[in-house]
Amino acid sequence: MIANKEILIDLFCRLVSCDSPSYNENAVRDAVVSELNSLGIAVEEDCAAEMIGGKCGNLYAKIDGDPSLEPILLSAHLDTVEPSHGKKAVVHPDGLITSAKDTVLGADDAAGLASIIHAVKNVIENGVSHRPVELVFDVCEEKYCVGIQRFDYSKIDSKQVYVLDVDGRVGRAAFQAPSIVQYRAVFRGRAAHAGFSPEEGLHAIKTAAEAINGITCGRTGDMTVNIGSISGGIADNIVPPECTVTGEIRGFNNCEVTAKTDEIGAKMRSVAEKNGLGCDFSKTVICKAFKTEEDSEICLNYAKACEKAGVKPEFIKTYGASTNNHWSEWGFCGLVISCGMNNCHSVEEWTTADELCRSAEIVYNIITDCKG
Ligand SMILES: [Zn+2]
Repeated sequence: MIANKEILIDLFCRLVSCDSPSYNENAVRDAVVSELNSLGIAVEEDCAAEMIGGKCGNLYAKIDGDPSLEPILLSAHLDTVEPSHGKKAVVHPDGLITSAKDTVLGADDAAGLASIIHAVKNVIENGVSHRPVELVFDVCEEKYCVGIQRFDYSKIDSKQVYVLDVDGRVGRAAFQAPSIVQYRAVFRGRAAHAGFSPEEGLHAIKTAAEAINGITCGRTGDMTVNIGSISGGIADNIVPPECTVTGEIRGFNNCEVTAKTDEIGAKMRSVAEKNGLGCDFSKTVICKAFKTEEDSEICLNYAKACEKAGVKPEFIKTYGASTNNHWSEWGFCGLVISCGMNNCHSVEEWTTADELCRSAEIVYNIITDCKG
């Protein structure tokens, strides 16, 4: 059992007060490094900053533990979404914690950082026997995880990864997350004066609209399809020569997502061709799906750690991506666990002192293998 809510809340508030937009995580990095150094933990920063054009790299630290126990990796991301400049945590008398409502709170993911650091601090200061622990704090997670994708995962000894980055009640853990593919179709027609010679034009917007009409959006089974943006046209008196349509597809079966993307591409090209236009279709794989079996060791350990903290574990599917999609692609077995963040990516974001304590306690139980 760990205690000292005040120290945890103070740490959380200090982390929130550091500016940490994606690509500029220096301030929060300095705070995290100083906390870990004060516990005698050395921190390495990798070269991701140069590779992604940011000012800060991913952080890695290793804490030796009982070699007879399996090592584990704990991870949270350093960056926050906008608006974030000058964010400040407001601790209300009932324990609710919000921002001043002109920025996000940044519990996504300061709640994860604070839970991990506080749990590690308690384990070290109490001298409790514990698993070997590796820490990875990545940059630019909010920009499609570009930071973690530059991380050298070959240095990791752990097989099990806990990513603290799910919203909602503490105790929730995402064991399955989707593949996400973005696509972009550029319809290329021909401009003409809309009054003098419309018959000479090839109308890119009308063709894009016809193609869009043939695509079913929304949820089909486990897969979702969206058309997210359409842009094109020059002026009211010009037949539009170009129109760009973008969207995304998510699903738990990577092959199905790839097939659906190709099907959409084929449909768009065939409508363009029928109308005498061209269509450049391209896709970007954002991440690949993962599934961690519910009877796997990590799920059983997580459930045990929750129960010891008096929290009901709940295993969920998420339609959101996280760094665990990448850990999974590299062969690690991971869970994305909640750490006390709610209404994320909005100025209404909130957490509570009690939820942060429960989150830190679960992490403490995971590290100590439920001892102590
Ligand atoms: Zn996050």
